[in-house]
Amino acid sequence: MIKQFVPQEFCLSCQGCCRFTQVNSVWSPCLLDQEIQDLLDRKIGQVYISADRRLLPIANPDKNGFICPCLELESNKCKIYSLRPFECQLYPFLINLRDKKVLLTVDLNCPYIRENINNSKFKEYSEYLAEFLNSPAQLKILKENPQILQAYEDVKEVLELNIDNEIK
Ligand code: SF4
Ligand code: SF4
Repeated sequence: MIKQFVPQEFCLSCQGCCRFTQVNSVWSPCLLDQEIQDLLDRKIGQVYISADRRLLPIANPDKNGFICPCLELESNKCKIYSLRPFECQLYPFLINLRDKKVLLTVDLNCPYIRENINNSKFKEYSEYLAEFLNSPAQLKILKENPQILQAYEDVKEVLELNIDNEIK
């Protein structure tokens, strides 16, 4: 499990995550192969996986748009929190493939990031993440799951990871 930067209470009062404007949103979590297998093994109901290995959003019963099938709307909690995908654990940070470089980026749409991006906690956490992602175990996972390396737009570069030469 990745240590979290955004406090849980802040997230629970925010409706920024787990909701999508389109069913085929690039923001829907991309899954590692092992995560797909875990979801299938546990027979978690009503969870569909798209051909490009994402959790497939479902129509939001409350209003327009779509939600992750694992979101419990009343509590705003993830139904598979302890099993939630790597990308969900990482967000609002994202691994981004840009010009053949693998970058750690952050989504400025997250209000907590906008409030904290210039403080020392952010710098310390970014360094923790870079060290974690550059560890041999994580590097192996990234190499085996290239679907995780996405070209997200409109995200801010935090630092370049040292893994690009390993995965090209
Ligand atoms: S947008 Fe940021 S604060 Fe809001 S739920 Fe997502 S991670 Fe938490
Ligand atoms: S798996 Fe959980 S944390 Fe991830 S998008 Fe779905 S509801 Fe949100």
